[in-house]
Amino acid sequence: MNFCPLCGHSVDQRIPEHDNRLRHVCSHCQTIHYHNPRLITGTLPVAPDGRLLLCCRNIEPRKDYWTLPGGFMENGETTVAGALRETYEESRVAAINPRLLSVISLPAYDQVHLFYLVDMPDFSFSVTAESHTVQLFKAHEIPWDHLAFRTVKRTLEHYLQFASATIPPVLNDHIGL
Ligand code: ZN
Repeated sequence: MNFCPLCGHSVDQRIPEHDNRLRHVCSHCQTIHYHNPRLITGTLPVAPDGRLLLCCRNIEPRKDYWTLPGGFMENGETTVAGALRETYEESRVAAINPRLLSVISLPAYDQVHLFYLVDMPDFSFSVTAESHTVQLFKAHEIPWDHLAFRTVKRTLEHYLQFASATIPPVLNDHIGL
């Protein structure tokens, strides 16, 4: 950040009073511009026959790799609402029964990824602008070598370890660089 988005003057990096980290501080209006991690929220949708839904990305990054539906949480929504919204946007699945499945911090990327285990009420899903293919997989069919993100891989591994549980334990993990 070079210029203050509020007043347009230059921004310095310094440690504000009563703080212990370098912050972007406006030289003119003195506003402290905090930069905090972003939340990515998504789902692992389970079809009525137990198969798992994955989306093949139609957009960068990681175009043509498989992922769980998810994306950046919006201001003014809950983590569950964000996860269900992203699921519908990317796969047209009207997911129900969300149960928190994984919380994975990525401190090197300033992100936290949350995934909910959800049920699909029926076999309705479709391709979207963001997913050029949407498909159901049995556990042994999961394309492990073509998954888009490590948080998706960790979440799938965790689910399969506890797949017999209606409410599996929550994975609390972090992934480095
Ligand atoms: Zn300013």
